[in-house]
Amino acid sequence: MTRLSEHFHLSEFTRSQEAARRGIDNSAPAWAVRNMALLCQHVLEPTRAHFGQPIVLSSGWRAPALNSAIKGSKDSQHCKGEAADFEIHGISNLEVARWMQRNLAFDQLILEFHVPGDPNSGWIHASYREPCRKEALTAVKKRVFGRLKTVYLPGLVA
Ligand SMILES: [Zn+2]
Repeated sequence: MTRLSEHFHLSEFTRSQEAARRGIDNSAPAWAVRNMALLCQHVLEPTRAHFGQPIVLSSGWRAPALNSAIKGSKDSQHCKGEAADFEIHGISNLEVARWMQRNLAFDQLILEFHVPGDPNSGWIHASYREPCRKEALTAVKKRVFGRLKTVYLPGLVA
């Protein structure tokens, strides 16, 4: 079991139901593992320490085959080991994202599909690389000409 930082293991980043279902090998190369360790050290560990509760990853590393299978963006930071999607059970994603925005160095922070008034809705996407852009966005579904599209709004919008 490869440990990335005090509380995070590589298996949390590479485990994927989608990869298992499709028979895709989602193991990560060493250069990507180094990026995941930086994300843990600079972003995930400080967030865990502040809220005092485990961070539950829903998506970490994505091998190229997995990313194309789920139709992920071609230049997704998940394919570089720089990003993770997560939640902290029982704490609003908006509250966690706001704390991160104020207190951490990160590259990109996205509050994804959070519904105001429903603290459990959506998740947080966070990435780390140097130099950090410190870009915060909110992803929402919007109806555009009758079709639901993902729209990214600047900042954390509740
Ligand atoms: Zn993500």
